[in-house]
Amino acid sequence: MALIVQKFGGTSVGSVERIKAVAEKVKGFRAKGHDIVVVVSAMSGETNRLIGLAEEIQSRPVASEYDTLVSTGEQVTIALLSMALQELECPAQSFTGWQLGMHTDRSHAKARITKIDEMPIRGALEQGKVAVVAGFQGITDDNRISTLGRGGSDTTAVAIAAALDADECQIYTDVDGVYTTDPRVVESARRMESITFEEMLELASLGSKVLQIRSVEFAGKYKVPLRVLHSFQEGPGTLITVEDHKPMESPVISGIAFNRDEAKLTLLGVPDVPGVAASILAPIGDANIEVDMVVQNVGENNTTDFTFTVHKNDYERACELLEQVKNDLKAREMRGDKDICKVSVVGVGMRSHAGVASTMFKTLAAESINIQMISTSEIKISVVVEEKYLELAVRALHAAFDLAVE
Ligand code: ADP
Ligand code: ASP
Ligand code: MG
Repeated sequence: MALIVQKFGGTSVGSVERIKAVAEKVKGFRAKGHDIVVVVSAMSGETNRLIGLAEEIQSRPVASEYDTLVSTGEQVTIALLSMALQELECPAQSFTGWQLGMHTDRSHAKARITKIDEMPIRGALEQGKVAVVAGFQGITDDNRISTLGRGGSDTTAVAIAAALDADECQIYTDVDGVYTTDPRVVESARRMESITFEEMLELASLGSKVLQIRSVEFAGKYKVPLRVLHSFQEGPGTLITVEDHKPMESPVISGIAFNRDEAKLTLLGVPDVPGVAASILAPIGDANIEVDMVVQNVGENNTTDFTFTVHKNDYERACELLEQVKNDLKAREMRGDKDICKVSVVGVGMRSHAGVASTMFKTLAAESINIQMISTSEIKISVVVEEKYLELAVRALHAAFDLAVE
């Protein structure tokens, strides 16, 4: 008998029929004698609908009220799934974030988990019930509802698995595992039997939404056995492992990630003097806006051009702040561009292989795709290109690095 945490995402609980199908599946595991905690997301589309309502009233909604609103989606699903389980004569009890004691800090909309009370869930399990938990939400120390950021139910599941020392955390979704790239973009993408935490962390941070990055961080830190599986198809899924179980000659590149959520800002003709980068980025940082890639080019007449990317949600605010910096520094011009995307190749094998960058750049050149920015680390190379080239770039790179081939 094992303790298993299972998480079902939005599409998997997207209708009453699917909720009933999830209940059948959970009951099946229960019948084998396992203790089950089920974490669910809001029904598909619901979180977006709620955000839309908020934005009809406030363009930048008050963060704590935003959380109170968007957390309601998950409350609907836990109640419906508990009912569906009880209809199948499988005892179940629902838990919102505050009911189970999911404590977080006060950074609304991107809260971090600080502590989880074990007792409420353990109590339900001891009574032979399935614990049905609302993903994505928690409670702050000043008694306000918080949420963990988009895709946060993955993190709820892994954090609960860590807190309860579960035998496995299973993330059920609408694909049957982690692929070499998003299978909706590249048809020949291949499911991986396993992937290391390090690589999964990189893929998630570079835009692969199959797992929220925090969930991978948690799983790595607390050694939670984590598997991504299809909700309604049988199969082994993909195991996220500490050890690399791949053959010795592991592929140079294991996956390709992309991100459409960034925007680019450039300040042209800034005086090229020490401290200029700090004076440009300080107000952006002070406004709590995260900067991702940064490039500085030497221009003419002792001036420089400074480019950086931020999340699209922060673009308007960053433009306002940069306009002010432009005036203060007497820069020539400010330019913004939302029609960009970031494409990244990821692989621990990159460390030992030269030439990955040149293959990547040649492949993009052969498709006449202009590279606007580049950033590298030991296990990834990212480029910013025009958004309209995203699918072409991902497909070309997937082929160039032989990812479809086993
Ligand atoms: P859920 O609602 O179950 O949390 P998500 O939409 O958040 O599901 O995540 C699953 C989706 O992630 C898939 O439908 C797929 O389009 C996308 N995805 C992106 N990159 C990958 C990848 N490398 N492997 C598998 N799926 C991926
Ligand atoms: N419902 C939330 C979202 O759409 C959390 C989740 O699905 O993981 O982002
Ligand atoms: Mg998700």
